Amino acid sequence: MKIGVPKEIAANERRVALTPDVAGRLIKGGFAVVVERGAGTAAFFPDEAYSAAGVKISDRSSVIGQSDIVLQVQAPGAGELAQYREGGGVVAFFQPVPDYVRQLAQRKLTAFSLVLLPRITRAQPMDVLSSQATVAGYKAVLLAASASGRLFPMLVTAAGTLPAARVLVLGAGVAGLQAIATARRLGAIVSAFDVRPAVKEQVQSLGATFLEMAIAEHSETAGGYAKELSEETHRKELAFLAGAAKDADIVITTAAIPGKKAPMLITAAAVQGMKPGSVIVDLAAETGGNCELTEPGSEIVRNGVAILGPLNLASTLPRDASQMYARNVAAFLGHIVQDGKLRLDFEDQIIRDTCVTHAGEVRKS
Ligand code: NAD
Repeated sequence: MKIGVPKEIAANERRVALTPDVAGRLIKGGFAVVVERGAGTAAFFPDEAYSAAGVKISDRSSVIGQSDIVLQVQAPGAGELAQYREGGGVVAFFQPVPDYVRQLAQRKLTAFSLVLLPRITRAQPMDVLSSQATVAGYKAVLLAASASGRLFPMLVTAAGTLPAARVLVLGAGVAGLQAIATARRLGAIVSAFDVRPAVKEQVQSLGATFLEMAIAEHSETAGGYAKELSEETHRKELAFLAGAAKDADIVITTAAIPGKKAPMLITAAAVQGMKPGSVIVDLAAETGGNCELTEPGSEIVRNGVAILGPLNLASTLPRDASQMYARNVAAFLGHIVQDGKLRLDFEDQIIRDTCVTHAGEVRKS
């Protein structure tokens, strides 16, 4: 079976779907791999490294037009779909927007969206959401540290003592936990809040304080995700977090509810109450933002508070983000391919949940 990896063409996308060592392992496992010339350059993987691993380097049209399965980070551009092999497979990390998914079906592609991967134990090695959120959570702290006028650790020096910076992390899922761990490593005093009480122990085990707010309703789904809060509880949460933000030098927000707009957690009034020189890094900028003032893709200053709304943060650490993505995607490939053929067993939850189009039909959108 021939696996194709085109160069990512979306603006600001520096990752590549397969790295040379993962490609080499696939080749040892019986796959043929063809990579577009320059596909790994922005992630610091030169063509020579792919060639040394046994990969064939080719041009874009043969990579996307002659492969059995095309592996990408971003979804194929709608304008390029005609060049994909009718009946071929595509694996990428994209939101299955209905209009676009219909176009994938018209081209008769068997397309898999890794955003839809179920968060079940046996899918963990394929969990792109987690690996890329880990990278984003780490980078968010570096951005905050760099935008802040303060040092993170407590320092006792001949020039006097500096207290440690205070970091508040909102949402303690995968990205939030990595942000907590990274801020702790830099020496900050960290506190965190999440509506799911189950994360309290995880937060504490990283050396951070879990902020407690009594929530009367059940805030977690059976699948372990957060639910949208009632209006009344949300109002209480906003007041509670405005109080917590006043004491923080840095606020990193990561709260999300799958398939919904991000919950608003820091109001404009809460920003007014923060100290000048404080920094908010809003990792939910892509889905509307957790701070009322966030401008996605921009950095603004309001009342002396810097508010950063970075997009596609994982792509800014392209080497390791690609390495993790490639391992996830290779594990996924190992699951959907058997004896050199696509195994489309829709009884299997991983295949059923991720396959958005097959044989001209839309299965998920
Ligand atoms: P996510 O990106 O959907 O959300 C981030 C965090 O925001 C979550 O912890 C959520 O509880 C929190 N949140 C939502 N609304 C909030 C609000 N109003 N106020 C404060 N916080 C709010 O989450 P994620 O990082 O993708 O992880 C979600 C769950 O999936 C976690 O339980 C995680 O442990 C689990 N998970 C399971 C697996 C697996 O078994 N394969 C892998 C990864 C994650």
